Amino acid sequence: MTTNGKGLNETHLPVLYNFARAISAVFDIQTLMTHFFNILKTAVDFDAGAYFVCHENHLEGRVYVKGGMDKAQTDEFTAAFSKKVTGSCRCSVEEGLRAMGLSYLMDRYDGARKSAQVHRRDLELKYMGSPAGVITIVSYAEKDPFEDTPVVEAMAEHANAVLEGLLTHMFAEEKKLADILMNMSEGVYIIDGNGVCNAVNPKGLEMVRDLCDCEGAGFEQAGAERWVFAGCDCEFTRCVKRIRESALPENGRHEEIKTARNRVFTLSISALLEKGGYIIVAKDVTEERLMQKRMMLSSKLASLGEMAAGVAHEINNPLQAILCNIELIDGETNESGHRRLKRVRDGVLRIKTIIKDLLIFAREQTTETENADLNPVIEKSLEILKHQLRMVNVSTALDLFPKPMIVKINRNMFQQVMINLLQNARDAMEESGTGSTVTIRSRLAPGKEAIVEVSDDGPGIPEKIIDRIFDPFFTTKDVGKGTGLGLSVSRKIIEGMGGSITVTSSVGKGTVFQMSIPHQGAVIDERRARKRREYDYSIIREKSILMVDDDEEVLRIVSEAVRPRVASVDPVRVSTEAFERIMEKDYDFILLDIKMPGMDGIEFFTKMADARPHLAGRVIFMTGDIESGKTAEFLRLTGCRYLAKPFAISELLDAVCEVTLKKGAVKG
Ligand code: ADP
Repeated sequence: MTTNGKGLNETHLPVLYNFARAISAVFDIQTLMTHFFNILKTAVDFDAGAYFVCHENHLEGRVYVKGGMDKAQTDEFTAAFSKKVTGSCRCSVEEGLRAMGLSYLMDRYDGARKSAQVHRRDLELKYMGSPAGVITIVSYAEKDPFEDTPVVEAMAEHANAVLEGLLTHMFAEEKKLADILMNMSEGVYIIDGNGVCNAVNPKGLEMVRDLCDCEGAGFEQAGAERWVFAGCDCEFTRCVKRIRESALPENGRHEEIKTARNRVFTLSISALLEKGGYIIVAKDVTEERLMQKRMMLSSKLASLGEMAAGVAHEINNPLQAILCNIELIDGETNESGHRRLKRVRDGVLRIKTIIKDLLIFAREQTTETENADLNPVIEKSLEILKHQLRMVNVSTALDLFPKPMIVKINRNMFQQVMINLLQNARDAMEESGTGSTVTIRSRLAPGKEAIVEVSDDGPGIPEKIIDRIFDPFFTTKDVGKGTGLGLSVSRKIIEGMGGSITVTSSVGKGTVFQMSIPHQGAVIDERRARKRREYDYSIIREKSILMVDDDEEVLRIVSEAVRPRVASVDPVRVSTEAFERIMEKDYDFILLDIKMPGMDGIEFFTKMADARPHLAGRVIFMTGDIESGKTAEFLRLTGCRYLAKPFAISELLDAVCEVTLKKGAVKG
């Protein structure tokens, strides 16, 4: 028989070969060690064996008993093994034995061998040179089976090498997983069958403050790395309870919960392999839901804008006809007729302003900011809501800073904030039946801040909800009336402009919302009001005018009103026909509608600028919809004068005079 340097001989080699082959593809320590004991028994006559591995936070072990050992033998073996475990590892025996969970393997054996002799081998397991566990083998045979059998050591050495590889791989995987968990933007809670949370990632710990209505106080630490949801009746705790009480479907469950503080979370719950355990992945989707709502609102607003533009166009033409008719009748009526007509005209001009504001509000969806005076924007907002406030008997008072307050804002968005604050004041006063006035004040604070205050003498806001009114989705209004988005969106808008918005309120006395926005640059001393220039209409007496508009009534009445002031007015309803006219005749002025069927004003102008370029400077556009981006851009590019319908005849004559006085606009 030949032996090698370690005392191994030919009979040992097939054993080692079998072991090496069996463990060539193992992925876990338990399988490795089961192979170890199974193959060892083919070469060595032993009765019991056990292994225990303990390194960092990895603990595992098993006891393998061949046949029935009696109690005394089992106790003796366990005690000896425990002693060894304590000696070789840094962890406690209790932990070690708990981790092992005495498991009996191997074939049955008829009765325990009784022997005065107990032969034992303890083989240290190491990881990177440090103790990492132990393998203990016991035999009750008469003769020591380990003597002269170096195969035990050889197999243990080989098993240790594979174990090191497995531990390295395991730690690398654990680290990867830990890194992912540490950096996840979702909260992860690993919960056992008793509802105890055994692990939570940092985001989960942070998130529990928002998830749990008692700010996480109900998430109590119950020992190292263990938490229980105690004494809190929040939606999250209820959800955890529900999961424990009902079986989880195989593909898990998804829930969306809204906390009392109006934060919205999605919870993905999946079962863990461990009996009754599950994992909850929680994500704060409050901002996401807010964005979705905002997008819905802005797309609604955009379609409202489209609709408003169409309606405005339809309304502006009859208004134009009404306005011209008023002017014509005005010349033929007596003193009381004048007064009545003035009231009608004022009404028409008011409708015009409302339509214009509505168009600006519905259309301007940009988020760009520009330097603008806050006061006119405040006035505009109030103008839009004044009627609604009056309808519920709420009067308004304005106390504006007498000089321009230049701030960098997006006018439309700021208007949105103002409208929301005014609407809230109106709703509160209407619902409670208290209060009568909304006051808007603006002033310049010494620290270069523009301050705007919207105050009401309504019911006020109860103390217990005042901290929550800026929360998304918080509303005290009835379903369908409030979305709870107004103030949260307003705060976002104002903060986006570098400002802040705060509230002070007193129940029964009223509420004040104060906005503070950084002031930009110097205050201009006087607000320069654009004064209407008085023109001498005799300068246009010789002018010939071509008027192109598809609305028959507008065409008829405007040309009738202008005709006495000029040499000639040719009204043409069809744009292609009008185009033929300009090819034949050099008009002094072309009054051109923009929105027309067939060739519209833009196409007319473009073709004319090509065919008869000298006429381009003689065009005055008439439009019912200057707020549309496309029209506004076109008008800007042409540099032509334009009139927004409905316009007074004097406005039209003024425009003709203005262009006449401009060099190069007249014939010859
Ligand atoms: P919504 O108007 O859809 O309710 P908001 O975010 O604009 O949403 O307002 C949230 C809540 O703040 C309102 O439901 C109301 O309870 C309260 N609130 C806001 N403004 C006032 C006010 N001027 N007076 C009393 N309560 C107010």
